[in-house]
Amino acid sequence: MNGPDAHAVAESDVALLARIRACTQCRPHLAAGARPVLQFDRRARLLIAGQAPGTRATLSGRPFDDPSGARLLEWLDIPESVFRDPALVTILPMGFCHPGRGRTGDLPPVPACARTWRAELMSRLPAVRLTVLLGMHAMRWHLPAPPKSLTEAVRTWHQAPAGMFPLPHPSPRNNGWLLAHPWYADAVLPALRAQVRSALSDG
Ligand code: SF4
Repeated sequence: MNGPDAHAVAESDVALLARIRACTQCRPHLAAGARPVLQFDRRARLLIAGQAPGTRATLSGRPFDDPSGARLLEWLDIPESVFRDPALVTILPMGFCHPGRGRTGDLPPVPACARTWRAELMSRLPAVRLTVLLGMHAMRWHLPAPPKSLTEAVRTWHQAPAGMFPLPHPSPRNNGWLLAHPWYADAVLPALRAQVRSALSDG
């Protein structure tokens, strides 16, 4: 983009991201402290709506810098260089900071995060063609009606609004779900990959 208006928009995005990265709103509830992890650029064509960063991603500051990320790349069938390019892929978990660990794994994302930041960020993504919804927290926020269950939402992915693709979270915690639902790899992943290719294409 060129000209003073484009410059003002770019500055505004930079300023918003600086405020998010400095956010400490939920610090009293975050065992690892407030360390927002996200990837954003208004030119992005693909939006990954995740859950919340794990401990490894929080330490590195890179979204999905963990086994969930390796599986997600395989599902999307894109190289890491594309995944890490903000001009192509924006990665916005439902909570930007690691929520801490419970008895069975990571706690759910802090709800205040989406309430505080998400609508503003969504309004700055005019080029997104496909939004990949990882798990129920993302589905509840992005879909017009909350799905009855994750399995039902994924099985009926073709009934989601255009440009939305509901998936399970790629966490190793979902290995059991993946084993129990072989149709996911056989039928859903090929459709997902076709939509990702289309979203990222220059056409
Ligand atoms: S989870 Fe979100 S709202 Fe809470 S401290 Fe982190 S960035 Fe701020």
